Amino acid sequence: MTHAACWNPGAETIDAHTLARHTLNQLRQQVDYVLARSPFYQQKLGAAGRTTADLKQLEAFSEFPFTEKAELRESQLATPPFGAHLACDPQDVRRVYSTSGTTGRPTYIGLTTRDIASWREAAVRSFWCAGLRPEHRVPVVVSPFVVAASYADAFETIGTCIPVGVNMTDRLIDAFRFAKANAMLCTSSYPLHFAQALASRDIDPRSLGLKVIFGGGEPGASIPWVRQQIEDTFGCRLMEVSGNGDYCAMAWAECEHRIGMHFMAQGIIHPELIDPDTGAPVKIEDGARGELVCTSLQRESQPLLRFRTRDHVEVTHTRCHCGRTGFGIRIIGRTDDMLIVRGVNVYPSAVRDVIASFAPATNGVMEIQLHKAPPEGWEPPVHIKVEHDPQAADAAGLKAAIEARLREKLIFRADIELVPPLALPRYEYKAQLVKKCWLA
Ligand SMILES: [Zn+2]
Repeated sequence: MTHAACWNPGAETIDAHTLARHTLNQLRQQVDYVLARSPFYQQKLGAAGRTTADLKQLEAFSEFPFTEKAELRESQLATPPFGAHLACDPQDVRRVYSTSGTTGRPTYIGLTTRDIASWREAAVRSFWCAGLRPEHRVPVVVSPFVVAASYADAFETIGTCIPVGVNMTDRLIDAFRFAKANAMLCTSSYPLHFAQALASRDIDPRSLGLKVIFGGGEPGASIPWVRQQIEDTFGCRLMEVSGNGDYCAMAWAECEHRIGMHFMAQGIIHPELIDPDTGAPVKIEDGARGELVCTSLQRESQPLLRFRTRDHVEVTHTRCHCGRTGFGIRIIGRTDDMLIVRGVNVYPSAVRDVIASFAPATNGVMEIQLHKAPPEGWEPPVHIKVEHDPQAADAAGLKAAIEARLREKLIFRADIELVPPLALPRYEYKAQLVKKCWLA
């Protein structure tokens, strides 16, 4: 395969030495920018005693402090709507995305015109790498919580975008039947649900004419039996892609060799691996494992330095026959307890907060029951045991009310099981909100 197969060969086949030099220059500019414009980083870098002058070589960046998602959330609560990490004029924010947060209150991610363009570039490279071509018409079946507009940008740049949304099965089927869709973007677990929906309507999945599914948001696409089952059911290819609403909508994609997702966002973000326990840098080489940490290199709205993604990854390769030089990863899981239910992040502490809001009918003590290992264990309805006071509320009404509020606030479907007070275990230090029943 030749380099012409890349969307942007200059970026995607850049040699390591040139990339490191270029990244160092960009990092210096990004650090200068946040020190001039972001109160959040003025405070953080000031406290750590770090300035642009410390960046004499790329390795020195590992001495800079991390940015945690919780800090961004707190910053946004204290300085709404965008937080003290906003580094541009609020009027220059042209697009706003939201992600679900631990409190059930979303966090807002703003993009300027230039930010939209750089995220589009990363998404276009990624989808092209994963096989998107001009003849593809792509229904977008992802939740509005995630960065669907950046994906739509990429589809419109290369092929044809057909926005559909989640829980719109009949509209999706119509897109294939009448708009001649032939590809699909969805979470990795969605295709098998879609197959069930088709079966209940007596439609053969292979009759849709689906050529390629771009799956992400969940580890499923990289699990061989899940991939095989989806490809056999639809008679198509399933390609894994990945990104994140905080650092870049789409930055990782498999090429036709499918040995791991290539890093695709050269010049837009700088990825690092760290030991999640010590924070020490982990060298990027075949087989290395660690938490992914990402830094924006040219972001105007909310630049992030050393953002801890909580994605635990393994490096699958550092060379590939396709000619792309971006190293490959496979996502092993999350470094915290978060559930990903149909592509929506669900934090157990947020679930507890919603349940606690029903006091005095509940006392806030709950336990999420995962009956299988994720990603299967995250399948809705999520089974949750909740302690309740039988005197304070009628059980059927309370169960329905909690399920409805979880669905409304945290966008996932739960199956609440009410249990008597003191039925669930108590913890002295940190409550274990998730029970891994298959280990019990
Ligand atoms: Zn490749």
